Amino acid sequence: MIDVERIRRDFPILGREVYGKPLVYLDNAATTQKPQCVIDAISEAYCNENANVHRGIHFLSQQATDMMESARDKVRQFIGAGSTEEIIFTRGTTESINLLASSFAQAFLREGDEVLISGMEHHSNIVPWQIQAQRYGFRIRIIPVTDLGELDMDAFKALLNPKTKLVSITHVSNVLGTVNPVLEIISQAHSHGIPVAVDGAQSVPHIKVNVQELGADFYAFSGHKIYGPTGIGVLYGRKGLLEKMPPYQGGGEMIKKVTFEKTTYNELPYKFEAGTPDYIGSIALAIALDYVQGIGMDAIAGYENELCKYAIDRLNDIPGMRIIGNASDRSAVISFLVGDIHPSDMGTLLDRLGIAVRTGHHCAEPLMDRYGILGTVRASFSFYNTKAEVDALVAGIERVRLMF
Ligand code: PMP
Repeated sequence: MIDVERIRRDFPILGREVYGKPLVYLDNAATTQKPQCVIDAISEAYCNENANVHRGIHFLSQQATDMMESARDKVRQFIGAGSTEEIIFTRGTTESINLLASSFAQAFLREGDEVLISGMEHHSNIVPWQIQAQRYGFRIRIIPVTDLGELDMDAFKALLNPKTKLVSITHVSNVLGTVNPVLEIISQAHSHGIPVAVDGAQSVPHIKVNVQELGADFYAFSGHKIYGPTGIGVLYGRKGLLEKMPPYQGGGEMIKKVTFEKTTYNELPYKFEAGTPDYIGSIALAIALDYVQGIGMDAIAGYENELCKYAIDRLNDIPGMRIIGNASDRSAVISFLVGDIHPSDMGTLLDRLGIAVRTGHHCAEPLMDRYGILGTVRASFSFYNTKAEVDALVAGIERVRLMF
């Protein structure tokens, strides 16, 4: 059970007002707010434990290194990975997928090969592949999205062929809220010997993820979307694949030995972590993961699902409401349009009522094209949101609708 009033007290920002109105924060898919324990962890680390990691023999450097490495182990345990060698710290999902695309393409992709993505990908899981496709000449193919906002699984199966070298797919759509059947996708792909990468930016904060149970070969997520700090993220990769992939960037920490003639690279995961890492970010991310585990991922998913169902029922009572994405398995992200009100007008007027939603294409322009729209209004929920906040959203939309 979620005690939402108690939980809300952990998040200082939720007590503030905007334009003299209580903040109703419904932009959690863009970033989540931070509990006091995460804010304190950052402050504490800079006050008491700050020194550059890995290179120092002095006390503070050792301590910071130990804390970063135990944060890595926390991440490993949180997503059910087998080894910390498979946990690479990055700046976020975007950097994780850029690293993957760059190194995987260099190791494995050639002209004539195919990488399969879907029609509901965030630009972060489209553009990095396009950049590498220009370099290596492989082809990007697209799994179509149905009217309901689900992946067309028959089309997916038909697209798998001997040229397919990787499937890279989002677990949860940041626009439609669809939870994709990644377990089935992975088992289908694996039956053809094809590895699968999963964009977990919108899944890890909301549902229990176990990369080994899923069988994922790569899995990416961002710290700031799971109540952690900005600037830290994770790429999980299967050791056997990471070992065959070249480094993404060169510099400090990713080397074993450097001479002007030849450089040998460090072992995993350091081979992929050039330069001073955001060790404070890793430490605070681990605190955020402890925090959500303290609430419980099953309790979080249950509460958010109930809130989402309530919101959908209430929104559907509004005349002219069109919800984009009605998948049978969904997460607490709701995109909608009301009559012919422009999403940015709706968003701006809701903002004046203290309600923070996101409007626009949500970095998924091909998906907007699929539905023949320019953008949507998006409300996205967390376990700290309440039914009263959903009611405020509905009342706000009604008010805006009557103005038009
Ligand atoms: N993928 C998805 C599905 C997302 O929702 C986002 C963030 N909107 C990203 C990737 C990119 O995440 P970040 O900006 O944290 O790198």
